[in-house]
Amino acid sequence: MSATLFQGDSVKAHRLDDGIVELCFDRTNDAINKFDKRTVSELGEALAAIAAAGDVRGALITSAKDVFIVGADITEFGEMFTQPEDRIASNGIVQNQVFTALETLPVPSVVAINGFALGGGLEAALAADFRVMANTAMVGLPEVKLGLFPGFGGTVRLPRIAGAEVAVQWIASGKPAKAGPAQAAGVVDAVAEPESLRDAALDLLEQAIAGEVDWQGRRAAKDSALPAGAAGIFAAAKATVAKQSPRNQPAALAAVELMETAAGEGREAALALESRGFAKIAKTQAAASLVQIFLNDQQLKKKFKAHAKNARPLQQAAVLGAGIMGGGIAYTSALRGTPVLMKDIGQQQLDLGTAEAGKLLAKQVRNGRLKQDKADAILASIKPQLDYTGFDRVDAVVEAVVENIKVKHAVLSEVETLIGEDCVIASNTSSLRIDDIAVPLKRPENFVGMHFFNPVPMMPLVEVIKGSRTSDVAASTIVGYGVAMGKTPIVVNDCPGFLVNRIITPYLLAAARLIADGLDFVKLDTVMEAFGWPMGPAYLSDVIGLDTATHVNAIITAGYPQRMIYDFGFATERFAKAGRYGQKNGVGFYRYETDPAGRPKKLVAEDSHELLKAVQANGTRDFSDAEIVERMMLPMIVEAAHALEDGIVDSAMEVDMALILGLGLPQYLGGALKYADWLGLDAVVAMSERYQALGPMYAVPASLRAKAGRGERYY
Ligand code: NAD
Repeated sequence: MSATLFQGDSVKAHRLDDGIVELCFDRTNDAINKFDKRTVSELGEALAAIAAAGDVRGALITSAKDVFIVGADITEFGEMFTQPEDRIASNGIVQNQVFTALETLPVPSVVAINGFALGGGLEAALAADFRVMANTAMVGLPEVKLGLFPGFGGTVRLPRIAGAEVAVQWIASGKPAKAGPAQAAGVVDAVAEPESLRDAALDLLEQAIAGEVDWQGRRAAKDSALPAGAAGIFAAAKATVAKQSPRNQPAALAAVELMETAAGEGREAALALESRGFAKIAKTQAAASLVQIFLNDQQLKKKFKAHAKNARPLQQAAVLGAGIMGGGIAYTSALRGTPVLMKDIGQQQLDLGTAEAGKLLAKQVRNGRLKQDKADAILASIKPQLDYTGFDRVDAVVEAVVENIKVKHAVLSEVETLIGEDCVIASNTSSLRIDDIAVPLKRPENFVGMHFFNPVPMMPLVEVIKGSRTSDVAASTIVGYGVAMGKTPIVVNDCPGFLVNRIITPYLLAAARLIADGLDFVKLDTVMEAFGWPMGPAYLSDVIGLDTATHVNAIITAGYPQRMIYDFGFATERFAKAGRYGQKNGVGFYRYETDPAGRPKKLVAEDSHELLKAVQANGTRDFSDAEIVERMMLPMIVEAAHALEDGIVDSAMEVDMALILGLGLPQYLGGALKYADWLGLDAVVAMSERYQALGPMYAVPASLRAKAGRGERYY
């Protein structure tokens, strides 16, 4: 009798002693296991072979990798989700038969979970009778983070195994759990050291075979309706889940509604409901976008690897300027393991920068994220100084002095004579051209932009800007530094505003134009926040600072005079002239106060409307929500398309990721260009024609029009 029952590319089944079969996930030529179509179908074949073998007493399910199964193969989603909803649903029903075959094996089954069992990986484990988990492993159903919910039976099995409350919590939050909480929640039956995981699983299997644990009783519960009361738990959870979901991401709520509907059904009917619900959620804008963002992220990581091959080693950095940005950069660098010299011209600024870093580290210690001695070592790796001692040994200098080209020229020419030949200089300028700053430098090939966003420790994006003379090595070195700092660097070619500020400028101009045309800024903010932005444009301008916003707008519009035209009263400027700078001095569009708990509170400033009369030549009027959204978002799509057409970045996905990470563009849109794809490029062209009267900021570039003509998309 052969020991091998089934041998596929991803799944194997072979006999152990005593009539036990081991079904093992072991994907050929891969470090991990995942559920792609092939793996699901091989699992079906392996289970059929086990069921047909006749002399089997129990099934042990394992992985030969460091992880059990990381989840579904997300690269297959794009194509799968373009199918009609009915097709997606019927595929789901067919795939689910495989998981049901596992659940209905004629013998008891136990899964040994090592590493990760996420998404489909945990759903497979839930189909077995028992689960033993390594104490180092993590399990969870993170599908909502992709705009989806579990579609391999997770919404059916989890509540039937662990109860309705656990199912809501796990599925709606998408958060994975460690072994302790997973066992306490009843999702796994036992926890073991990684070395004894297999033995523990075999032990439990022997107990089941011996009838010492009631596997058949368990199965019956998984095949039945949920206990009375479950539907009520789901119903009661809906309001909270809806409130906690990001705007326009309906998956979590849909999952809870689905579980409520299916609570009274047995397995088969509940699975059919899940497949139908999954197909529907797979067709949403949020799913399309969040899946794309996941894939973009993977692509960016590949790019980082390529840069790493090209980069110079970077062990010691220096920062010029200990202000808001320089201080944040020094702190982040040190925190993530690159020691840094922090130079300023004033002792007071150095003290402020150091104190701020100290405060942030103390907070990490308080939150239990850092030990005190580690925090002390990090702080000690920031060396505040008034001179250039040690600059001859640094691998990179980040310049964050005041935004003044003369000062930058003087500082950088000086520093260039003190550093090594291979040292890269990166400027954190927000509005000056890299080529302009590079003018007096002797080694412009070693000079690059490194544009962080404020506050540096929080904001994930950094734009790495290549001037016309910047070398690839210098850019790659700074990409590597950004990655080492835990940021997502995106490489951009030099242009006014780089990528993010260039694209937000037309968006804020569109807001100013709407206000000038008579729209109430409170309504504008309300509509754009309902659309998904974390802050409406007036509030955002207050946060940026209305003086800063006016200044930045003037610089960037000057760079695109053919398109970014404002020949109307400009609200931001109006407020700035009146000395109302926004949040920083307590009043702008809104008035800011702190509540008794010290939290900032935003109030409508009654006199704002009065002040705005000066820019509203024809008085006030109302606009429909749809018109507001179109007039705000179209200029952003147009500018994003221009930036790509101009070759400022390599790909649509880099434009979109920069907007999501740098601006907080709502994730469900997937970016400006992904949004254009969702609307349909034809529809974008038609919209552009409808708003022709608003000028060239609303006119789509030739490349977009041509793409629409060819029936193409950005993705
Ligand atoms: P800041 O005024 O808070 O800090 C500037 C610091 O540079 C001050 O501490 C000043 O003493 C110091 N300085 C001036 N001359 C110096 C010299 N010769 N050598 C060393 N230090 C010197 O300004 P900031 O907001 O931190 O901005 C710094 C840079 O970052 C600017 O180029 C700005 O455009 C850019 N930036 C700012 C933001 C933001 O939101 N604040 C965002 C992105 C980029």
